[in-house]
Amino acid sequence: MRKVIAALPDTLISQIAAGEVVERPASVVKEVLENAIDAGAQAITIRLEEGGCQRISIQDDGSGIAHTELHLAIQRHATSKITSLADLESVISLGFRGEALASIASVSRFSITTRTSEDDHAWQIQVNGGQTMGDAVPSSGPIGTTVDVQDLYFNTPARRKFLKSSATELGHCLELIRRIALSRPDIGFAIWHNGKVIERWASCNIEQRVDAILGQEFQSSKIALEHISGPLTVRGFISKPTSSRARADQQYSFVNGRFVRDKVIQHAIRSAYQDVLHGDRQPMVVLSLEIDPQLVDVNVHPAKTEVRFREGGAVHQFIYKAIQHALGTAAGQSTDPSTQ
Ligand code: ADP
Ligand code: MG
Repeated sequence: MRKVIAALPDTLISQIAAGEVVERPASVVKEVLENAIDAGAQAITIRLEEGGCQRISIQDDGSGIAHTELHLAIQRHATSKITSLADLESVISLGFRGEALASIASVSRFSITTRTSEDDHAWQIQVNGGQTMGDAVPSSGPIGTTVDVQDLYFNTPARRKFLKSSATELGHCLELIRRIALSRPDIGFAIWHNGKVIERWASCNIEQRVDAILGQEFQSSKIALEHISGPLTVRGFISKPTSSRARADQQYSFVNGRFVRDKVIQHAIRSAYQDVLHGDRQPMVVLSLEIDPQLVDVNVHPAKTEVRFREGGAVHQFIYKAIQHALGTAAGQSTDPSTQ
């Protein structure tokens, strides 16, 4: 039997998109934090309840949103970050699709409270499972934005079932926050869980942030690395071969400030350590690659931890050399003839 073709309602489109963008509470944390960073926040407070399954509330001191545009912030494909294909080619903001807030709001009880420096009070808009609850209403609060997400997936029970224990979801949220905090040591972060502060990282430099997040073992074994060649710059810290891990769970790489999990970079790291690490022991690394935005495509997937380099081979060679050089220097420094 032939069925008629009909355009899907907007809320349903957002709910379908949410399946891809909002995989779990940590994905909400990621999208909302990225928005705070794009808005120029200097201090961000993250409050989670039950690993984010019950509530995720993120407050920033960024630019805020004009109340006349607030309804657009939660509309699909509305963004302040790009206006043309040319912008997309050289995007430097973390977001650009204009679908995160619409997706999150379609599968939660959502509110956004915001105030710009021009407003004398804040404004708030509420959305319940994709249904906007009236216009923006006056509210109170400092300059900046607070996004509040409660009962994620309350209206999509099939998906809610896929949520793991709150401890597991909290672990994913914290890992997400660590990545972002490593990319922006200049921003202060406070993290609350079930009403208690669990982390507080003041604004600092990258080395202090790396020490705060990767901990003691890396702190005492790390080598600073900096390598520049043509359009490529990499900076960061890598572990000495004498200290390694069974898993690659402390390898953080960033491309133009964006956390990535990239095969080219991972392979370059592995190759550079090949001769100095036994078996499948894994180094700890924090590497931040700066590259001309024209030479990398960040528009691969909505979750955006993938990127595509125009010249992957050159990037591989560059990272490989940077690490080898740093390891060589460190070995040279620590060579003590009496112990050989
Ligand atoms: P995108 O980030 O891809 O533009 P989002 O759905 O995440 O899409 O956000 C939509 C728009 O809402 C953004 O382009 C931005 O203008 C505004 N916005 C969202 N969060 C914030 C925030 N914390 N501070 C200021 N503006 C925000
Ligand atoms: Mg966004």
